[in-house]
Amino acid sequence: MATTKKVTKVSSSGGTPPKATFVPSAENKSKATQLRIIACILWFLGIAAQAGAIYVLITCAKPIETISWIWIIGLLVVDFILVVIGSQLWKKSNRLDPASKKDKVRFFLQNQLGVIISVIAFLPFIIFALMNKDMSGKEKGILGGIAAVLLVAAGLLSADFNPPSIEEYSEQSEYVQELMGVDQVYGTKSGTKYHLFDDCQYLKSDRTTEIFEGTVAALYAHNSRIKPSISSLCSACEKRAAKAKGWTDEQLQEAKNKALNLVFEPQEESNEETE
Ligand SMILES: [Zn+2]
Repeated sequence: MATTKKVTKVSSSGGTPPKATFVPSAENKSKATQLRIIACILWFLGIAAQAGAIYVLITCAKPIETISWIWIIGLLVVDFILVVIGSQLWKKSNRLDPASKKDKVRFFLQNQLGVIISVIAFLPFIIFALMNKDMSGKEKGILGGIAAVLLVAAGLLSADFNPPSIEEYSEQSEYVQELMGVDQVYGTKSGTKYHLFDDCQYLKSDRTTEIFEGTVAALYAHNSRIKPSISSLCSACEKRAAKAKGWTDEQLQEAKNKALNLVFEPQEESNEETE
């Protein structure tokens, strides 16, 4: 394993001993808490901006004058920006300190809270705009439409389409240890895969000037472009590790099934697709 690239160690997410459930390090846990607090403050300010927009909407002269249009739309845009930034921080916090899939309701709420906040941050305004008796149909249409577009856009940007879970982190750590003996993987700043070898052919491209090294969980926390799924493991590295161990394809699959079933019910078949 020799590389001429600069290798930067990214902070480890801590305790992932063999056959154990992932536990975030104290450092990452406190970082996650910090991000969550900031996210909540931004969300609160976003909702406050919406309240301001509703206030202007109710109190302004009708038909709505230019200055009021600017205030209302400006406050809605501020609302949008605050909600979306808050959601990005929230998603990042979940990468550091993921939820468990075992509690399905909590898993959904924790990962998709940004979507719920997006609804809270725009729906009241839409209702106030549509219910307002002093506004013309055209005014209602424009303001309701703008708020609806912002609601959908904020919701899409806030949703976590690849939510991380304690189970994914644990299983993949287990599988990497099975292959390499140690949970240490490599990734690039913007790549979507993690690698078992720092001299993998896919890390040799000239675009790669810096390689990050850490546990699977640390790489997930570091690069949000890596989807927290076993499909993010570089298949070239996987094959190379199996070859080094003298494993057949069946033996590799068996090791994979064993690791991926780790925290599922024992009778449950893993249907995890691999690339
Ligand atoms: Zn690779």
